[in-house]
Amino acid sequence: MALVIDTSLCVGCGACVGGCPNGALALENGVAAVDENVCVLCGVCVQNCPVGAIDIPRETNAPDTTAQHRDVWVFAQRSEGLAEVSLELTGLARRLADSKGQSVTALLGGGTEDEAAQLIAAGADRVILGTQPALAQMLEAPYTDWICRLAAEYKPEILLFGATPFGRSLAPCVAARLQTGLTADCSVLDIDGETGLLRQTRPAFGGNLMATIVTPHHRPQMATVRPGVMPLPAADAARQGQIVTDDAAVAPGLVELLQEVRDGGGSALQKAEVIVSVGRGIGQRKNMKLAEELAAKLGGVMGVSRPLVEMGWATQDRQIGQTGTAVAPRLLIACGISGAIQHLAGIAGAKTVVAVNTDPNAPIFGAADYKVVADAAETLRALIDALE
Ligand SMILES: Cc1cc2nc3c(=O)[nH]c(=O)nc-3n(C[C@H](O)[C@H](O)[C@H](O)COP(=O)(O)OP(=O)(O)OC[C@H]3O[C@@H](n4cnc5c(N)ncnc54)[C@H](O)[C@@H]3O)c2cc1C
Ligand code: SF4
Ligand code: SF4
Repeated sequence: MALVIDTSLCVGCGACVGGCPNGALALENGVAAVDENVCVLCGVCVQNCPVGAIDIPRETNAPDTTAQHRDVWVFAQRSEGLAEVSLELTGLARRLADSKGQSVTALLGGGTEDEAAQLIAAGADRVILGTQPALAQMLEAPYTDWICRLAAEYKPEILLFGATPFGRSLAPCVAARLQTGLTADCSVLDIDGETGLLRQTRPAFGGNLMATIVTPHHRPQMATVRPGVMPLPAADAARQGQIVTDDAAVAPGLVELLQEVRDGGGSALQKAEVIVSVGRGIGQRKNMKLAEELAAKLGGVMGVSRPLVEMGWATQDRQIGQTGTAVAPRLLIACGISGAIQHLAGIAGAKTVVAVNTDPNAPIFGAADYKVVADAAETLRALIDALE
């Protein structure tokens, strides 16, 4: 595709030049001209031109092959065993596939038959088990090569990745190679009843609205979902599925992974059954010890809102929310947190929410099961005393 300017229509008003977010347009001899090396085909100028002089024509001669694609695929990431998000996505894929009358395939590189069986119990009909040594480590080059070859061969309609650090890095490589779209960090995925397209819903414009994105012309339709956003499906050990071993050569890694150093924060939050979270209303840094103490007494961990990370009071792996970790504990005690939409995006999976805030109108109360209008630090002290 390329941007086309009809200079016979252009009146040289300059509206497109000022509106281009990339500075790809200029007026030359009184008409608009584009620098194709800079233009990213975002389409803003097409909308801005008052006389319809700009177009980004689709390659209409290219045959529409979307109908050849079917089935829902999941990239099953491993991380000291099968990553929990792989099972969450398999459960989601099952629901999507059922609504289209299709099947679910999980791609498991460097895994075991036992892990493949877990994916089948979670809803997969087929697991493609990549046995190549290059897939033993989570590296983009061999995984991109492997997934793209399989996708070209089997033509999946939908391909899902967990928005883990590796998933966030791998999914764009695969999407670029397959020349299809990718929607990151979806919080809702469902099938449009009329078109059959995958509706990919995610926060947009700083989390102030939810955007639903579709991929009408390219396949597979690709999306990432953060760990903890989708429910973990109940394992059904009686489910039957097929395990297909794939050992065809894949590209070697471009880097050599010497050592993996794990930082437990984010995953500790994801797995926690109890979280005591604190926000700016905790007042002083030393008061965070109270949250840590209460969390320890309840067998849980402490989480924070983003300002505390920005102030350097906590590390980013402790942050809950849209740009932090999505959590799903049985009990969340949120102290001195206002409940901004970006924070709420990370706590939708919490079963029971207790909110402590001095402002009775704080938005966090809208998401809370128990509402305590009180000082955060005092409440934490009182709860610790009560438990002691
Ligand atoms: C693109 C983007 C992404 C973002 N991602 C995230 C994210 O992932 N996670 C996140 O948390 N934020 C995120 N934010 C920031 C978010 O918009 C809010 O600014 C942030 O969540 C507010 O944090 P807070 O509730 O701790 O602080 P504040 O909004 O300042 O709220 C403090 C609360 O404490 C209460 N309070 C004050 N004193 C006391 C007291 N003594 N006892 C009890 N309560 C008290 C106040 O009434 C108030 O409700 C993001 C913002 C943007 C633009
Ligand atoms: S398509 Fe987007 S990047 Fe390209 S010239 Fe128009 S506004 Fe600029
Ligand atoms: S907005 Fe349209 S008419 Fe105006 S300079 Fe650009 S191409 Fe020409």
